[in-house]
Amino acid sequence: MTEKIDIDRQIFYRLLNYTRRHWGRFLVAVLGMVIYALSNTGFAVLMEPLIDEGLIANNADPIVKWLPALIMFVLLARGIGTFLGTYYMAYVGQFVVKRLRTEMFDHILHLPISYYEYSPVGTVISKLTFNIDRTAETSSKALTILIRDTLTAIGLLAWLFYISWLMTLIILMLMPVVIYAFRYMTQRFRKINYRQQELMGQLTENVQQAVRTNRTIKLFGGYEHEIKKFERDNEQNRRYRVRSAAVQSIGIPVVMLIVGIGMASIVHLFTSGFFPASVSPGAFVSFLVTMILIFRPIRNLVSINAVLQEGVVAAHSIFEFLDMAVEPEEEDIFIGKPFKAHIRFVNVSYSYRDSSDSDSQPWALQQINLEILPKQMVALVGASGAGKSTLVSLLPRLYHCGSGHIEIDGRDIRDIPLPQLRAQIAYAGQDIMLFNDSIANNISYGREVPLQQIKEAAAKAHALEFIEQLPDGFDTVVGDSGVRLSGGEGQRVAFARALLKQAPIMIFDEATSALDSHSEQMIKQALEEIATLSTMIVIAHRFSTIQLAHRVIVLEQGRIVEQGTHSELLARQGAYHKLYFSSRDRRIIE
Ligand code: ADP
Repeated sequence: MTEKIDIDRQIFYRLLNYTRRHWGRFLVAVLGMVIYALSNTGFAVLMEPLIDEGLIANNADPIVKWLPALIMFVLLARGIGTFLGTYYMAYVGQFVVKRLRTEMFDHILHLPISYYEYSPVGTVISKLTFNIDRTAETSSKALTILIRDTLTAIGLLAWLFYISWLMTLIILMLMPVVIYAFRYMTQRFRKINYRQQELMGQLTENVQQAVRTNRTIKLFGGYEHEIKKFERDNEQNRRYRVRSAAVQSIGIPVVMLIVGIGMASIVHLFTSGFFPASVSPGAFVSFLVTMILIFRPIRNLVSINAVLQEGVVAAHSIFEFLDMAVEPEEEDIFIGKPFKAHIRFVNVSYSYRDSSDSDSQPWALQQINLEILPKQMVALVGASGAGKSTLVSLLPRLYHCGSGHIEIDGRDIRDIPLPQLRAQIAYAGQDIMLFNDSIANNISYGREVPLQQIKEAAAKAHALEFIEQLPDGFDTVVGDSGVRLSGGEGQRVAFARALLKQAPIMIFDEATSALDSHSEQMIKQALEEIATLSTMIVIAHRFSTIQLAHRVIVLEQGRIVEQGTHSELLARQGAYHKLYFSSRDRRIIE
């Protein structure tokens, strides 16, 4: 329990820390709340002379002349207090929201790839949008309650006691009922809220998937299935929202009822002469007004725990995300001359699963020993699931070798700072992911490069020809993931991007789908061009590509089972021979 409170407190302080740079404005907000509390009490206090002196005695006491002005002043102060308190809290709150969003986005970019294999994107998006808003909303609300409502309640309570301690004590006897009622409601509210946050994540996830897999849905007629899934979550969300509205809206009548009981009892006691005559009619009315005024801050104070909890739940999920380990932030120091790109895999094994029991470990790669000389091109072939993609993912340290190590120019890649290592490697794959931007920006991705250089890279990648035929040329926007380009065109744009990077190591993951012969020819020529510039590892599916390679590496269940040139391997009549002849048209080796 204490541990939980400690964690809650830590979260609260951590959140508060985000407001650090805005203390000045935060203090203005606090000042606003103090003004609000004072003026609210002031308003109740004014009721007494208004009735006693102004209405009943109707005398010429100077205070009577000033009463209208005083009422205006108090209400004006209350207005200013409300404004300062609300506006400046929102002002600071939105800075916190902005900072949290930027931090989260930065984190999204830097998390290791493995994170996204297990976490639905929708949940991450929902954290970035919904949870952050919730955190800001609830923490400003909690702070407002802590400061404004506490002060208001203290001021008003003091005034009640001042008028009549006896009447106040009688009213206070009703407090346990009020507290119990509020507690009950806020507990229900909290449960509903927690579930609501989860549901928002699921809803976002549904939309995300529908957009991403739209083609599949269309082709497989998955509309009904998707709608049903969405409808189920949407309906649940509606139910929770309605329940939350029910709990919220029942709160007000309940409060009114309790206030009513309190007022009725006081009126009864007053009219039956229970109180001493020292309580004037003005004081009595002021007492009733104060009672009405005090219920709101008290209701808020009782619910503060729930508000805090709601904020803590939302903030916890954000901080949990932010605390997840990112890829190592290594300083991008240049550690020597440009890479010659002599690559060596030494006894490399890798498993996607973390397990101490290595016998039952499903190895994606086992005991890989492979040497690739500078400017050499090797083709990786093997059945699907043989480990080709895993092998190339280890080189830029997207995953880390389980055992063994990889060297580039005799240096263990773990000793090369990540930014520099990745700067040496260009990647063009079937999932190269073009951005929904112009072709020029896709090629130059992330860098300011003169158009001339972009054109040269496109020419080398044999992409110029088709780009120039597009209505907007290099300014053509390619659509999400490049949907507006054909497979072969997309690959050549990716080649151009890789070429522009002038990286000494090039990884090319060839598309499994067949290309028309013109595109295939173009890609072959582009590859020949790149092969003269970089060390290349190609995950090859087409004979035309394999022909270009100096060496073909055959993988089977995570092991290298054969290597040699295409004709050598065919002559050996082993695994490669089988793979080659089992493929339908001998151009595609899966
Ligand atoms: P290939 O590229 O030759 O088709 P992969 O390298 O993708 O083969 O996969 C090798 C093995 O690792 C397969 O058994 C596959 O199921 C497994 N695998 C691949 N990616 C992951 C992953 N992200 N998480 C868990 N297992 C994976």
